[in-house]
Amino acid sequence: MKPQIYTEEEHQINQEHVDPNALEVIFRLKQGGHSAYLVGGGVRDLLLQRTPKDFDISTSAKPEEIKQLFGKRCLLIGKRFRLAHIRFGSQILEVSTFRAGDPESTSLIVRDNHWGCADEDVLRRDFTINGLFYDPTTRTVLDYIGGYEDLKRRMLRTIGDPHIRFKQDPVRMIRLIKFRARFDFEVDHRTEKAMVQCKEEIMKSAPARVLEEIFKMLESGSSANFFALMLQYDFLDILFPCFHHFFSGSFSDVAYHYLKIIDQIHQEQSLLLDRSILLAALVFPILEQELITLSEDRQMPMTFGDIVHLSQSLLRGISTSSFTHFPKKILSTTHFITILQYRLTPLNNKPRFQTKFPSHEDFALSLQFLKLRSMINPKLKKVYVDWKNAREALAQ
Ligand code: ATP
Ligand code: MG
Repeated sequence: MKPQIYTEEEHQINQEHVDPNALEVIFRLKQGGHSAYLVGGGVRDLLLQRTPKDFDISTSAKPEEIKQLFGKRCLLIGKRFRLAHIRFGSQILEVSTFRAGDPESTSLIVRDNHWGCADEDVLRRDFTINGLFYDPTTRTVLDYIGGYEDLKRRMLRTIGDPHIRFKQDPVRMIRLIKFRARFDFEVDHRTEKAMVQCKEEIMKSAPARVLEEIFKMLESGSSANFFALMLQYDFLDILFPCFHHFFSGSFSDVAYHYLKIIDQIHQEQSLLLDRSILLAALVFPILEQELITLSEDRQMPMTFGDIVHLSQSLLRGISTSSFTHFPKKILSTTHFITILQYRLTPLNNKPRFQTKFPSHEDFALSLQFLKLRSMINPKLKKVYVDWKNAREALAQ
């Protein structure tokens, strides 16, 4: 298969925007007699004039050959999907060998380690916009599947038959929603129809991969869009019924408000919020609502013990009803963060700033979460500053 080739004049990728370490890896592989390209999201983002999150490399070199070229800096990882990690200080570059998956097979892919050529490697990728190769030696973009035109048209389309591609790997449906949320592209009609028809297939995927995509989206700056689309296409209902209930109920505005603040933080600052804070942003508004309902029913003020109990049973309910299991550490920190909010801002009395501060980092996370709440409710700004000052005074 011959690719369509786009020259530097046409694609206008500025090679200075490509990570120098990624270029070094590609040149070393080429010197070793292999072909190697920049692939996937990195090329897509460069063409969209966005800063790529990572630069992935694809090569004709087999994992062992990559290891031979890069020695100690190279670690071969993965069983389901074997690839090489090449370390440059704290940065890790992923190098994968061209694969020749069977794009026509409808069975679930459990392993994908069948080596192939560049044009075969493209066919096993998910969407046309993710199937472009960039060759830094000729400074050209190689397009085997019409991804370049789709990118210009702002169109999301699977490579090959969408039904087959979603059945092979249902996580691709979540990835589709992720790209739609992030870029606001249109979805090709056949691709969208197939996703609607295949949505239940998502239950066959590996829960850990789904959870990773969800957390990545909570960190992406487009999480509010993402949750709205997950709700619209019923994935929230299938995967996280508790969140579905809240995001589709009468307090959905509050739920989205939290996500918008998280998005704002991730867009404006380079920091990534801790994953327990991200989970707390989903759980805390539900807890607040449940507390209001419960105290109205009881007509009695809630005690701190009641809150601890409610938070525990809420988190247990979310864990058991969700398709994915949340790591225990994240659950326990989220619980700490949510209950501590009722010490930082007690329901019925003033906060007692003289409270001894737990020194561990969960307290810092709780304070960070209070700051996030104060971005939603400006009345909390002062109490957040008071807590921060009290803590700093004590630390001196
Ligand atoms: P991001 O910007 O979130 O990193 P990405 O497209 O780069 O998005 P990665 O998970 O880094 O996503 O994957 C790199 C590339 O590998 C993709 O662009 C795509 O070509 C291919 N890929 C990733 N996941 C799949 C999948 N489930 N099925 C087929 N190809 C995939
Ligand atoms: Mg990527």
